[in-house]
Amino acid sequence: MNRSSGSRRVLVTGGAGFLGSHLCERLLSDGHEVLCVDNFYTGRKANVLHLMDNRYFELVRHDITVPLHVEVDEIFNLACPASPIHYQLYPVQTALTSIQGAIHMLNLANRLKIKVLQASTSEVYGDPQVHPQTESYWGNVNPIGLRSCYDEGKRCAETLFFDYHRQHGLRIKVARIFNTYGPRMLPNDGRVVSNFILQALQGQDITLYGDGNQTRSFCFVSDQVEALVRLMNSPDDFTGPVNLGNPEEVTIRGLAERIIQLTESKSALVFKPLPHDDPHRRQPDISLARKILAWEPGVRLDEGLKRTIEYFRRCV
Ligand code: NAD
Ligand code: UDP
Repeated sequence: MNRSSGSRRVLVTGGAGFLGSHLCERLLSDGHEVLCVDNFYTGRKANVLHLMDNRYFELVRHDITVPLHVEVDEIFNLACPASPIHYQLYPVQTALTSIQGAIHMLNLANRLKIKVLQASTSEVYGDPQVHPQTESYWGNVNPIGLRSCYDEGKRCAETLFFDYHRQHGLRIKVARIFNTYGPRMLPNDGRVVSNFILQALQGQDITLYGDGNQTRSFCFVSDQVEALVRLMNSPDDFTGPVNLGNPEEVTIRGLAERIIQLTESKSALVFKPLPHDDPHRRQPDISLARKILAWEPGVRLDEGLKRTIEYFRRCV
């Protein structure tokens, strides 16, 4: 592809992960150069192997809890394990990645006077008492629970982003990402979509935690990537935080039933204990994203699940 005058050198931390690899792909196809940085904790070279022949793509093994000295034009900071199993395995490392990692990316952006986007999360709302969640809601988060390393780490990262913005005039973008799914999710990361699809395809019992009446809202990865790109390209005075997700809310039991139907599986539903601090309801209010980014998700849940099932069929 020819580089246009609008071509930028973009750093994607966590670029070998699920969301990051799709973002790298998109940025390259938009004509940008991509520097993908990852410590391969939950990311895989296999996710970006198809990009290695592209001369505008570079892959660097690096942990963002250590400072990084590179010359780039903008930063997407996605590095951080996203699945509860992985972020709870080394909780101190999770908090460090969110906080120390954010400081390093903010310092880099500040030195280079460039824009930096933070992949924050709906987890900043904790177990929300406001429904659906709007960006003005401050959340209901347990500061000392099993999920706190992630939730509080991400909340602190948001604080740091806004303090760098206020103190140094840094151009920031904060995305509050709601549950996102699609091809390249790790089969063993314990997230609900990958667990249920694999269980259904392998004829195993489908494990519902709790009574299955808790809700989530699932966004297909291509919609999420489109939103992140639009946010990065939005006017400088728009910092966010902005909710990015699909407002179609489903119960976890309903999700299991749809997956059983789409895979034509004979799997049975079994009930397991609900993990600590598991949020009861989650649904983004995306009015702000609709207004400022002219964005809303286009891939319906059944369609996204079909594409994800196809991917996992090739994995099993
Ligand atoms: P993922 O685990 O697939 O990707 C995270 C990537 O970051 C991995 O490649 C991992 O190896 C890398 N990483 C972790 N710690 C690192 C470190 N210290 N230094 C360098 N690299 C490191 O998860 P994902 O679903 O792709 O999530 C990407 C980002 O989006 C994360 O910041 C996550 O918190 C956020 N997010 C994701 C979701 C979702 O549903 N997928 C929801 C909310 C927020
Ligand atoms: N969940 C479940 N069975 C599983 C995995 C997850 O019932 O095998 C539930 C989990 O308790 C939560 C929801 O599905 O209520 C979403 O879990 P996930 O870990 O994917 O994301 P998060 O809780 O971070 O939204």
